[in-house]
Amino acid sequence: MALERTLILIKPDAVQRRLAGTILSRFENKGLKIVGLKLMQVTKELSAEHYAEHVEKPFYPLLEEFITSGPVIAIAAEGPEAISVVRSMMGSTNGRESAPGTIRGDFGVSRQMNLVHGSDGPEAAAREIPIYFKPEELVDYESSLSAWVCADD
Ligand code: GDP
Ligand code: MG
Repeated sequence: MALERTLILIKPDAVQRRLAGTILSRFENKGLKIVGLKLMQVTKELSAEHYAEHVEKPFYPLLEEFITSGPVIAIAAEGPEAISVVRSMMGSTNGRESAPGTIRGDFGVSRQMNLVHGSDGPEAAAREIPIYFKPEELVDYESSLSAWVCADD
C-alpha cells in the first residue's frame, strides 16, 4: 500500500454552484487526509502550466476561459493510492458519460465544466502539487483516524 499525495482542484463551476463543501466532503469521507488547501484565482499563465499537455489542442481556449473564469479550491490530499482513488471518485471526463456515484456523474452534464480535477498519475501529481503549493503550504500532521482508515493492507 503506497501512501501518495495528489492534486485536486474544485473547479470554478463547482465553486460557483456552491458544491465545494459537498465535493470536499466526499474526499474527507473517503478517508483522504487534507495536507494543503486554498481558494485561488487561476491565471492564464498558471492554466498553461497546469494544462501544458492540452495547450495546443483545439479546445484549449475554451478550457483556459473556463478555468480562469472564477476561483478554484486547490487541495493536496494524501492517502493510500490517493491518485487512483481520487480519479475513480471523479468519474470520466464527460459528465454525460461518467458513472452515477462519481462526482462528475452525480453533479454535471458537461464535458468541460466537470467540477473537479485530479492528477492522473504519480508524475502528474509530483508536477502539479508544486504548481499550486509552496512547500511551506503543505502541512505534515498526524491524524488519529489514520489507524482506522488505512490499515496496513
Ligand atoms: P481529465 O483528466 O478527466 O480532467 O480530462 P483531460 O485531461 O482530457 O482534459 C482536461 C480538462 O479539459 C477536462 O477536465 C475538461 O474540463 C476539459 N476538456 C477535456 N476535453 C474537452 C473538450 O473536448 N472540450 C472542452 N471544451 N473541454 C474539454
Ligand atoms: Mg487529464
